[in-house]
Amino acid sequence: MAGVIRRLDETVVNRIAAGEVIQRPANAVKELIENCLDAKSTNIQVTVKDGGLKLLQIQDNGTGIRREDMDIVCERFTTSKLQTFEDLSAIATYGFRGEALASVSHVAHVTITTKTADAKCAYRAGYSDGKPKGPPKPCAGNQGTQILVEDLFYNVSTRRKALKSPSDEYSRIVEVVSRYAIHNSGKSFSVKKQGETVADVRTLPNASVVDNIRGVFGNAVSRELIQVGCEDQKLAYKMNGYISNANYSVKKCILVLFINHRLVESSALKKAIETVYAAYLPKNTHPFLYLSLEIAPQNVDVNVHPTKHEVHFLHEDSVIENIQKHVESKLLGSNSSRTYFTQTLLPGLSAGGVSEVKSPSAAAETSDRVYAHQMVRTDCRAQKLDAFLQPKEKPPPEPEPAGPSGSGAATTAAWPASEEMEADDADMLRALDEQEAEGSKGNEDDANSAQRKRPRQEQQQPEEVDEDLAAATVPKRRVIKLNSIKELRAEITENTHRGLQEMLQNHSFVGCVNPQWTLIQHHTKLYLLNTTKLSQELFHQILLYDFGNFGVLRLSTPAPLYDLAMLALDSEESGWTEEDGPKEGLAHYIVDFLKKKTEMLEDYFSLEIDQEGNLTGLPLLLDKYTPLMEGLPMCILRLATEVNWDNEKECFRDLSKEFSMFYSIRKQYILEAEPGQEQDAEVNSWRWKVEHNIFKAFRTLLSPPKTFSEDGTVLQIANLPDLYKVFERC
Ligand code: ADP
Ligand code: MG
Repeated sequence: MAGVIRRLDETVVNRIAAGEVIQRPANAVKELIENCLDAKSTNIQVTVKDGGLKLLQIQDNGTGIRREDMDIVCERFTTSKLQTFEDLSAIATYGFRGEALASVSHVAHVTITTKTADAKCAYRAGYSDGKPKGPPKPCAGNQGTQILVEDLFYNVSTRRKALKSPSDEYSRIVEVVSRYAIHNSGKSFSVKKQGETVADVRTLPNASVVDNIRGVFGNAVSRELIQVGCEDQKLAYKMNGYISNANYSVKKCILVLFINHRLVESSALKKAIETVYAAYLPKNTHPFLYLSLEIAPQNVDVNVHPTKHEVHFLHEDSVIENIQKHVESKLLGSNSSRTYFTQTLLPGLSAGGVSEVKSPSAAAETSDRVYAHQMVRTDCRAQKLDAFLQPKEKPPPEPEPAGPSGSGAATTAAWPASEEMEADDADMLRALDEQEAEGSKGNEDDANSAQRKRPRQEQQQPEEVDEDLAAATVPKRRVIKLNSIKELRAEITENTHRGLQEMLQNHSFVGCVNPQWTLIQHHTKLYLLNTTKLSQELFHQILLYDFGNFGVLRLSTPAPLYDLAMLALDSEESGWTEEDGPKEGLAHYIVDFLKKKTEMLEDYFSLEIDQEGNLTGLPLLLDKYTPLMEGLPMCILRLATEVNWDNEKECFRDLSKEFSMFYSIRKQYILEAEPGQEQDAEVNSWRWKVEHNIFKAFRTLLSPPKTFSEDGTVLQIANLPDLYKVFERC
């Protein structure tokens, strides 16, 4: 049986229509704010209760509504802003349909209090279903309008049920208000919950756009903004705004877009802009943009459904392409003019490394994908800087073949090769593994910690390394059970910057600038690394991880500690003054002091001192690596004066710091024989050491601390896609 078709009651029709226009409190707020702005208000205050469902109040200081118009303001299709259909395409105000107030009055109790400049007093009237409930009553009030909306959707239970979370509705309201506040800088806005004294967002009349962005989105983004602006007469559009630079990124793209001063969305424009940023930002991160677009009114389809925030306009593709190019040029400009030495945070390297952990399938889809605009041509021979310096004789042979995937092939001090390994060695390795498994607990990045494993059986016996120094027999590898050492090791693991570690593991060596600075490439980026600081950290970590298990670099001629101490005191670096007493006395004290510590120094650090007070051996920290002996006197002096010998942990920390300073690659290396002489000199030159000892060890042995990404130890100095773009333009 066919159903009877009945004409719907008019109020029901209106209610349904109203529900379409106003779907949630934030829609109403947007419409009401636009009315305030149309009325030339400079101060707009929004008060909310229960996410706007209980109460929404918008107070402005605009022109107000004349008393004689108060009867009809809430009727559908009454507007003071549009007279003929032709006006529709040349509209300069927000409202054009006369639908907002009417809609609200069909789904809520509305009360309007308003006063024009001419009126002697304010008037108040209540409305329901588009009609005033009675004649306007005179009352007290300032110029402007207050629209009070109570019990929104009281008569639309389905809608009311759909809006379950007042706090969610409230944050949507705050979002609308704060975006209009940014766009209307120069006018003041506030939004707060009823009963609260402090507003959740408040902007001041004299604040700039950037001030307001700071107020709403925070300092991190506001200090990384680039101003943008472009226009095209033919396409009849004008755009201006602020966009974040390549230093800033967020998890989700924020595009605050106004077209002809109306908050809208355009997924086409968003997509186009995201493509540009993809070349500049780390994977899976996004920019912030505030764009205000003005388009000839006749070119915008203003008559779309009120809830359709998504807009379309004439010549959309061309306009978007235009804007895309402009954004890219601004981004590139700001990127290449960055001052490298004030850069503090490394872009693109995540400290946690967690964001880099993906399921294999996700990785295949996203991280491995290289877009055409990201592709960079690099030299297939991967030339190093050396190739452009002087002609070279045969380079010395590589110390040893690299292990599988470059890990575990490192060489530190010498301990027995695999065939000589005994039971306790195996135990030790197991103990180490366990310890590292512990250290990586709660860390999703297992791959990384696995690579942190200390060298194993691949160890080689050290060969003769120096004329003056001969490798000596080595102690068996033993397990260190000292808590102090365990703690110091754990601190290193905890503090590791995974992004930097990955970079060091997979870098390409480019060349040495000088003993202190080295260039490396990683992916498409060029980095300048502080070799001194990194090598010092490397030796510090070796000293703690191989604690008690070092080989010995035996001095061919024992060096009297007394002479070493005197040499140190003679140098300016020691800071000795007459007040410190005679140098000889101090030197004797140092010798006596260190002699008392001999047993421990020898046992744990392989620092050998004979009964006469001569230094006979130094720890062998890295295969084929001997420290620059110029640093020895100072090291001896500092061992006696700068180490906290009273606390076990502090003592080991200090000792390894002092030794690592001595072993690090420093400025003084420049005094060494420069390359181009005989091959032996070449082998021992600092350049060779940096590339083949130090940077090779960085790949497997170094866990760079997080501070290195912030303190200038590692600086990104170029990004090839950027350079590529620059060259493309030449
Ligand atoms: P529209 O904005 O499309 O004209 P509305 O239903 O939003 O339609 O508003 C109807 C009319 O009520 C407006 O044209 C305007 O004359 C008046 N009005 C609404 N809000 C305000 C306000 N805050 N200040 C002054 N006049 C207002
Ligand atoms: Mg309106």
